[in-house]
Amino acid sequence: MVQIPGICTNNPETVVAAHSNQLRHGKGGGLKAHDCFIAWACYSCHSELDQGKMRYEQKCDYWQAGFERTMLQMFLQGIVKVS
Ligand SMILES: [Zn+2]
Repeated sequence: MVQIPGICTNNPETVVAAHSNQLRHGKGGGLKAHDCFIAWACYSCHSELDQGKMRYEQKCDYWQAGFERTMLQMFLQGIVKVS
C-alpha cells in the first residue's frame, strides 16, 4: 500500500505492517508508534521508509498515502469495523 515508485516490488508475500516514524503517532525515544498507525508495505518500501536516504518529509508523505490505502482496505476487508 506504500507503493514508492522505483522501489516497490508489489510482492504480497513480503508485506509487513510499517509503523509510523512520526512523533505525533507515538514514535520516539526507542518507542514504536501505536499499532493503529501502520501502513502495509512490501519489504522494499518498508526498508526505504526506515533506512532509506529519502528526505524525512517525503517518507512521511509516502507512509501517509500508504496508511490511508491500508485503512480503506481494513474497512473493505472487514478487519476494522464500526460497532
Ligand atoms: Zn512496496
